[in-house]
Amino acid sequence: MLTLDGVLESLQPLLEQFRTAAAETDRSGRLPLWHLRELGRAGLYRLAVPLERGGLAAAPELVWEVHESLAAACGSTHFVQAQHQGGLGFLLRGNPDLLQEAYLTGERLCGVAFAHLRRPQSPVTVETTADGWIFRGEAPWFSGWGLLDEVVLAGRDERGQDIYALVPLAQPSIEMRECPQLSAIQASATVSLRLHELVVPKAALVLTQTLEEMARRDFRSQLGYTALPLGLVREAATFVADERIRRCLEERGAELRQRALAWVDDPAEALEIRASANLLALQAAQAAVISCGGQANQLQHPANRLLRESSFYFLTQLNAPLRAVALEKLVPSSREQDWGRAFA
Ligand SMILES: Cc1cc2nc3c(=O)[nH]c(=O)nc-3n(C[C@H](O)[C@H](O)[C@H](O)COP(=O)(O)OP(=O)(O)OC[C@H]3O[C@@H](n4cnc5c(N)ncnc54)[C@H](O)[C@@H]3O)c2cc1C
Repeated sequence: MLTLDGVLESLQPLLEQFRTAAAETDRSGRLPLWHLRELGRAGLYRLAVPLERGGLAAAPELVWEVHESLAAACGSTHFVQAQHQGGLGFLLRGNPDLLQEAYLTGERLCGVAFAHLRRPQSPVTVETTADGWIFRGEAPWFSGWGLLDEVVLAGRDERGQDIYALVPLAQPSIEMRECPQLSAIQASATVSLRLHELVVPKAALVLTQTLEEMARRDFRSQLGYTALPLGLVREAATFVADERIRRCLEERGAELRQRALAWVDDPAEALEIRASANLLALQAAQAAVISCGGQANQLQHPANRLLRESSFYFLTQLNAPLRAVALEKLVPSSREQDWGRAFA
């Protein structure tokens, strides 16, 4: 029987292995599948799941700590397992009956493809039929191709409602298209998914929601993903020899972590925390590069990887409010910020 202590104990040696192999993983086009399977075997995918669904209902502080540690050890591994956990989050929220034990053990893995809904015109459209839906178009971002079995795929229907469905990836109606080479998290096996009259039965429905509902929930995931840049700050600080600077990075990271864990429901505060963490990660990674000197300009150097990953963290969960707050943080122009109220 899995216990919280048991999970933490099993995760420690895994994190060390991931950290040691991080440069090699970064250079590869796809991280090893065993990373995701072993995380499942260790119990990671149960941590935040309620007890009645086979989970461990761990305290948020503990879940946060694990995510920071994993992001610190290997950004690519964290990012792909986060897609799986994101998929499980959708199942739990919308249709928990679809959440099978195999997803919790990591024997079956699913990702997500929904970020495109934030674009003014969804590139994935959905036609309603008597038995379900037909999905068409192209989902521009899907991470985990060749690693994950299924995807929680979303598209917009004729009434402007967004349909999220659990869909197997291995089927002729889904064509993978390679993305141009990425500068960071290349090992996430990120592709776009072209949908050729993809027929989805009603039983595969995960949830429906409007764009406004999605925008209201975005704040929560933008805040949750703050553990990634803060994990990076932690790792980058280890490369900074100047103790004063290192301590300053650690303290500012700890401050943001505390604010994130104390967050209740204020969208503006969520954006502020996330954008501040993104900026701190960029500063920490650049400080690591400066501390390591010329060798840090080599792609395989850990500080170089952290710098590239810190830039990527500005892009994930990017929506219009986060874009505005992040730009203002980066280049303060004294523009009044009221994005937090935009979707209130
Ligand atoms: C490597 C990688 C892997 C990814 N993997 C996944 C995945 O597995 N699943 C998934 O669902 N998503 C994934 N994403 C998507 C990611 O979470 C973000 O949604 C994406 O990076 C945002 O960029 P974009 O070009 O798609 O969106 P953009 O077109 O930049 O739009 C983002 C937001 O900004 C707004 N916006 C655009 N231009 C402006 C402007 N000029 N002023 C104000 N607002 C503007 C848009 O309306 C939208 O709300 C991935 C992204 C990357 C880079």
